[in-house]
Amino acid sequence: MLDTINPTLAQLRAQVKRKEMPSTKPAACWSGKDLLMGKPIPSLTIILRTIGCRFAQHGGCTMCGYINDAAGVPPTEEELIAQFNFALTKAPDSDFIVKIFTSGSFFDTTEVPYNVQDYIFGCLEQNKHVKKVLVETRPVFVNDQDGKNLEHAKVHFNKPLEIAIGLETANDTIRSFCINKVFSFSEFKKACIIADNKNITVKAYLLLKPPFLSEGDAIRDVISSAKVAAEYAQTISINPCNIQKGTLVERLYHRREYRPPYLWSIIEVLKTAKRENPQTIIVSDPVAAGTRRGPYNCPKCNREAAQLINDFSLTQDTELFEKFECECRYLWEKVVQLEDYAYGSQL
Ligand code: SF4
Ligand SMILES: [Zn+2]
Repeated sequence: MLDTINPTLAQLRAQVKRKEMPSTKPAACWSGKDLLMGKPIPSLTIILRTIGCRFAQHGGCTMCGYINDAAGVPPTEEELIAQFNFALTKAPDSDFIVKIFTSGSFFDTTEVPYNVQDYIFGCLEQNKHVKKVLVETRPVFVNDQDGKNLEHAKVHFNKPLEIAIGLETANDTIRSFCINKVFSFSEFKKACIIADNKNITVKAYLLLKPPFLSEGDAIRDVISSAKVAAEYAQTISINPCNIQKGTLVERLYHRREYRPPYLWSIIEVLKTAKRENPQTIIVSDPVAAGTRRGPYNCPKCNREAAQLINDFSLTQDTELFEKFECECRYLWEKVVQLEDYAYGSQL
């Protein structure tokens, strides 16, 4: 798989013209809301502009276009620190959670060198309003020398820390062949155990509807993955696949061989996953919801469905979905039945 698909993925990425951006500003930062101990609290999300995911540089995952936001040349330590300081100026002036993404792995020192990690953790440790920090990483940078990176982080940061891992699915075959993400469930499990031993919690991202899966298979895969992942992760975030530039998913979409999932499918997954794993926080933040490049139902109900998904993520109350109705539900049910025969292509 690696030998055959990576050059194609790299070629697709190369066709996207990257925007020139100042290396002292983050790729993005915004404020929102998240759950802390079951209660909504303001959050600050920071996307640092690093050199980007090392796996995406030579191929990477079939749905991921984050490398388009990466820096063309590796930013210096001073530039990365300037990005972080800039983002902090957007922080709420009350208690909040900080979520740091790099369009790759925070603990990959080729993206975020130790000096920069130390600075960031030290700064967040001292800020009395920061109640919790989340950083995203692939398991390999946690498993590295049995958690050396996490130990390093804990030296500078003693508040609640969470690592977010893009597990995508608990099924190794789907992760490898549909997503081209090369790590196994057992590596994820090992990273979670290392984190748990250091009192660090885990948020697992599951991808709803990777390419080459029908709508029904995608729903079933996320529900069964949530069940397995819930044994190791305290929070599960359902990421409905969207169409990002320069990806294999985008090519399939242009050839009418891929449609993002229905919002109905997200609702179905959230309801079932919450019922089956009541102790686990289950959330979803559907990017580009209601547009052709994101998950969508029909123009009549897109907005309401997306709002309900966001409300559920902050309340964990599945009752919210009970009164939601639209005539497009019948179409979705038919798609779930029939897409199995079309291998996930648009009907
Ligand atoms: S999903 Fe993660 S591992 Fe895959 S290419 Fe994107 S950043 Fe890299
Ligand atoms: Zn509808």
